[in-house]
Amino acid sequence: MKKLFPVVIVGAMLFLAGCGASSSPAPSSSSGTPSASEKQPTIGVAIYKFDDTFMTGVRNAISTAAQGKATVDIVDGQNSQPTQNDKIDLFLNKKVNALAINPVDLTAAGVIIDKAKAANTPVVFFNREPMASDMQKWDKVYYVGAKAEESGIMQGQILVDYWKAHPEMDKNKDGTMDVVILTGEPGHPDAIARTKFSVQAIQDAGIKVNILAQDTAMWDRSKAQDKMAAFLGAQGEKIEAVLGNNDDMALGAIEALKAKGYFANNKFMPVVGVDATAPGLQALKDGTLLGTVLNDAKNQGTATLNLAVALSKGLTPSKDNAGYEITDGKYVWVPYKKILKANMADAQ
Ligand code: BGC
Repeated sequence: MKKLFPVVIVGAMLFLAGCGASSSPAPSSSSGTPSASEKQPTIGVAIYKFDDTFMTGVRNAISTAAQGKATVDIVDGQNSQPTQNDKIDLFLNKKVNALAINPVDLTAAGVIIDKAKAANTPVVFFNREPMASDMQKWDKVYYVGAKAEESGIMQGQILVDYWKAHPEMDKNKDGTMDVVILTGEPGHPDAIARTKFSVQAIQDAGIKVNILAQDTAMWDRSKAQDKMAAFLGAQGEKIEAVLGNNDDMALGAIEALKAKGYFANNKFMPVVGVDATAPGLQALKDGTLLGTVLNDAKNQGTATLNLAVALSKGLTPSKDNAGYEITDGKYVWVPYKKILKANMADAQ
């Protein structure tokens, strides 16, 4: 026992030294075992443009989800497909383990897939859904998004409920809802579906709809403010409701309405958006935005990252390894949710 004593002391000292090392930088592979960070895959993430409120939420969710799982390199396409293509080429040259792409132009997806396939680098598209024919080009191509049709239906339902509870909304008492619509980027599947299905949901509830004016504001708040000011100039008091394909445009419309005396002295206009961004929720709280639809940036970002990590490990993404149900072998659909002032907490 006496002889063993020094061995125990030395052992204990080594143990303590080992504990101390855990707070210092991770040991390098020269120690024989690679550190956790060295084993992490690198994911090249391309966003169509950083200057987009909703995509900033998705971008932040990707970074958060990557902690401890992957190294993410996130680049700004600056709303230019050639710029994004150059950045994707750089990712492929650097041999990232997987790509996560929010394309600027959907029609570029086919070429991106061809390049990625040639380099055997799996791709997860998100937010802007490529054409089905492009998605079928390779088995290592996935998509994470939300069914825009659902969000349009929910927007319409919010207006239907308000119309039924507030007969004064029908200002000219003609039984028809006179609306103006601010649409997102032309050709964007979310803009097309939200516009179509919001109107259809109102009609499906037995209410006629008259579209007084409709124009694109490119998902952008200040462009929407200008367009809404023009609608108000041309249509004035005829407008009974405003549909924005996203919250930023709904908020731009609210600014233009405020300039015309709305949201003061009992002058109200029902305005509905999509996304439930932080400024959107603030407007709900203030009582200017009537309603919105949660476009779940957190789950869309997390699913994108998880799929990219599974693919970079050579796995076929599944609920088990990525945490999300895969539909039709290639798609993760994150559900939308109707958000009113009363259930704002569901979106926070
Ligand atoms: C969001 C918009 C966003 C767009 C970008 C949509 O799903 O609702 O706010 O600007 O995606 O592609």
